[in-house]
Amino acid sequence: MGIPTRHFDALIIGAGGAGLNAALQLAGAELRVAVVSKVFPTRSHTVAAQGGVNAALANVLPDSWHWHMFDTVKGSDYLGDQDAIEFMCREAIPTVYELEHAGVPFSRLDDGKIYQRAFGGQSQNFGGEQAARTCAAADRTGHAILHTLYQQNIRARTHFFDEFFAIDLVRDAEGIICGALVLEIETGEPLLIESKATLLATGGWGQVFRTTSNAHINTGDGAAMALRAGIPLMDMEFFQFHPTGIAGKGMLITEGTRGEGGYLINKHGERFMERYAPRAKDLASRDVVSRAIVTEVKEGRGCGENGDYVMLKLDHLGEQIIAKRLPGIRESSRIFAGVDPVIEPIPVFPTAHYAMGGIPTDRFGRVAMPAGHGAEEVVVGLYAAGECACASVHGANRLGGNSLLDILVFGRLAGKDIIDFVRENPYQRAVDPASLDQAMARLERWAMPGEGISVQSLRAEFRKCMEDHAGVFRTEEIMSEGYRRLCELRERLPEVRLTDQSKVFNTARIEALELENMIDVGLSIAVSALHRQESRGAHSRPDHPERDDATWLKHSLYYKEGDRMDYKPVRTKPLTVESFPPKERVY
Ligand SMILES: Cc1cc2nc3c(=O)[nH]c(=O)nc-3n(C[C@H](O)[C@H](O)[C@H](O)COP(=O)(O)OP(=O)(O)OC[C@H]3O[C@@H](n4cnc5c(N)ncnc54)[C@H](O)[C@@H]3O)c2cc1C
Repeated sequence: MGIPTRHFDALIIGAGGAGLNAALQLAGAELRVAVVSKVFPTRSHTVAAQGGVNAALANVLPDSWHWHMFDTVKGSDYLGDQDAIEFMCREAIPTVYELEHAGVPFSRLDDGKIYQRAFGGQSQNFGGEQAARTCAAADRTGHAILHTLYQQNIRARTHFFDEFFAIDLVRDAEGIICGALVLEIETGEPLLIESKATLLATGGWGQVFRTTSNAHINTGDGAAMALRAGIPLMDMEFFQFHPTGIAGKGMLITEGTRGEGGYLINKHGERFMERYAPRAKDLASRDVVSRAIVTEVKEGRGCGENGDYVMLKLDHLGEQIIAKRLPGIRESSRIFAGVDPVIEPIPVFPTAHYAMGGIPTDRFGRVAMPAGHGAEEVVVGLYAAGECACASVHGANRLGGNSLLDILVFGRLAGKDIIDFVRENPYQRAVDPASLDQAMARLERWAMPGEGISVQSLRAEFRKCMEDHAGVFRTEEIMSEGYRRLCELRERLPEVRLTDQSKVFNTARIEALELENMIDVGLSIAVSALHRQESRGAHSRPDHPERDDATWLKHSLYYKEGDRMDYKPVRTKPLTVESFPPKERVY
């Protein structure tokens, strides 16, 4: 009996902000669009975004998209592509107004305009005074955006496949991607979704690290699917550790807390960021603040019995401000750290947070890969947007508030480009049976329980290995050992069995598929990091402490086959303005 099959103009894998904003364009243009999500759409991780989305609205302080662009290029440690960055910063302003009109309940100033708070790395006038650019709905901005986009999609009649897990992309006989094999989690039944265009919007992979701000679902499935399809992943060594995770737990305390006036102290009560970033202090860029915290702890100035965290002080803001601007943070601190920030400081330490790298795309969300002799070619019919993609607007370090912006701007643009693509390519390509068999084999491999290594134990070992060997500070020795251990774990993968034969059989199978994906993604991080012999943005190497523009101002590309690396130039030419040439990066 054949596999049940459905046909759509466009298939979107992922129902976070990126997937939903793309879907909205497609449904609005009367295309038949399917959105597949392994969790109910409004549980996608965008829901967890706290602090806000950047746009130079100038509601609180003077601002301009050009200053925003400067901050983003500088924040990226000059590795971001300046054409894409210019585009994103210009688009930010209409994007936020579009959200407002779609119904996002932004917090308001007394004059009724959208409330904007200060975030790290923001400046006025190309590196001058602190700017206030982050548009916020209290500390639940992602929640407000995701729910609004979902409601708009329901109105536009987008077809949702809720709690379906995408296993792999499928191709036609010419190798062109024309849909995906998915699994209905509740029933365990496979379903083939054939489409004229496919968009990967599967979010990040913070779960590859043991301590993370990311939800359990962030396992890099889309990135791993791209790798298996022969597509390289770009700039994977650049993974952001957010400075303020709840110590020992990893849940996020938004940068918005420091934007509202909170600050970090060590065991002596010293406001130590003054030593590391004399001007921006606690609102320096995230890579800078994370390194400062780890250094304070390493040098014996950490707090608590084991001296392994620092404190985030908010009590001086007063109960009223905390209740109005940071209600969710108060709740999380009480639940996960057992402290009320109105009364005492929150214990914090850097937590694995955000993937700067991902599936390489152009500005229109089209997946693009090197075609030899410096040329690039688009992978026909395949798109990527959101955290899983790398349009290269974050380079080596993302600024807070720029990710929600990225997912909305490039999600929308991918949707628009797919509309044109489908109009020009109106016929469905026939899936090659061999390609489908390959995807099915991946699923069937996990069909039978048995004796062997459990998914949970290999997963725990893997995540600890990533934390120990690909963290905030990395040396050749630490990373080489990490790579060796990851290769061992990859070799042990075939010995993994679903030892749990209980009622949760399907979810156990999903966990096994996710583990496979995570190991592939983990290796791409480890190999890319090992090769880059410089310190840039979030990639910090005490054995190569300087940024080396002469050799390393280039994007890295990791291929799964043979753990191979390749490189491509950074696009330093913006669309309409002058380039920002690399300079020393001080805050
Ligand atoms: C705690 C936290 C706070 C943050 N705060 C901010 C902030 O204030 N401002 C900001 O700019 N950024 C913030 N970020 C970052 C930002 O929220 C994310 O980068 C962004 O929301 C990612 O959106 P996305 O659409 O790419 O993916 P997600 O929202 O993660 O959605 C991914 C989707 O893919 C689906 N999926 C994944 N794999 C599969 C599969 N195999 N099969 C089917 N479906 C699949 C999931 O079900 C989900 O629907 C924060 C991040 C975290 C973790």
